[in-house]
Amino acid sequence: MEFVTTAAPIRPDVRIAERAGFCYGVRLAIDKAKHARDEGKPVTTLGQLVHNPGIKADLAERGIATADLADQMEGGTVVVRAHGVPRTEMDKLRARASGTGELEVIDATCTWVLQSQKAARELDEAGYTVCIIGHEDHPEVKGVRSYAGEKHVVVDDMDRSTWERVPRTKKLGVLSQSTILPHKLEEFAAFCLRRCHDLRVVNTVCPVTLTRQDDSVRLAAEVDAMVVVGGKNSSNTKELAVKCRDVCPDTVHVADADELAAEWGAWLRDKPRIGITGGTSTPEVDLEEVRDRIYALAAA
Ligand code: SF4
Repeated sequence: MEFVTTAAPIRPDVRIAERAGFCYGVRLAIDKAKHARDEGKPVTTLGQLVHNPGIKADLAERGIATADLADQMEGGTVVVRAHGVPRTEMDKLRARASGTGELEVIDATCTWVLQSQKAARELDEAGYTVCIIGHEDHPEVKGVRSYAGEKHVVVDDMDRSTWERVPRTKKLGVLSQSTILPHKLEEFAAFCLRRCHDLRVVNTVCPVTLTRQDDSVRLAAEVDAMVVVGGKNSSNTKELAVKCRDVCPDTVHVADADELAAEWGAWLRDKPRIGITGGTSTPEVDLEEVRDRIYALAAA
């Protein structure tokens, strides 16, 4: 008689980073929009509150609409996203709210982003050329730069050639998008120091981003593979993946559990210890779904 032995699938050790999921700024904006809708108000968000497809679908199902510009609002209640909006858009909203009263404005701009906007305005008023390191097309940067005066420049943390936009001048003021890695801000500040006499640096890196990165990197160093979950256009999720890959080369960035299963199912099988983390716009439920999918793939 011939015996055939088959090894039982090994259940991997899967851990989710200690502090992951929505940051409080994004959570608060979502909660404010939902709360207003639950009160029966016609709610529109100015800009997407979050990149996450599942949450966007949930908000749409609740009847919460999204507009890109203040002029597109016909009335009702508008919720300004956590990343903030450009000054002109905010001014238009406030004018309509105080003038005809046709619009109620719920400003959910995160307190950290408000501080960056304030710092940009104060630096400009004090005669500094404001230099912002971040991603030019990011909503937060679009908002902050609108307070930074005409001379300001925006440079990209990933593309040093853009740093040449910084003029050689007397007074430079530096600040960053909230989700930029701190060492990038430090490098950029050192670069600016060589171009001016008077340098002011405002540390506008969000502490929530820092604690998340610390937890994620610590976990990445302890596992065989790391899965970073979040929208492909979410800059802080992309940053997180770069950071994790530095200590865990087997790091992948996926939008959700379906992408993980479709693209990386086979790759996961020989990884006994797997870590999961997500960007500030990735809800906990998405991380749990990825964890459950990993267990399911391992058992298949
Ligand atoms: S990442 Fe930080 S600055 Fe950005 S919305 Fe969240 S808490 Fe606010």
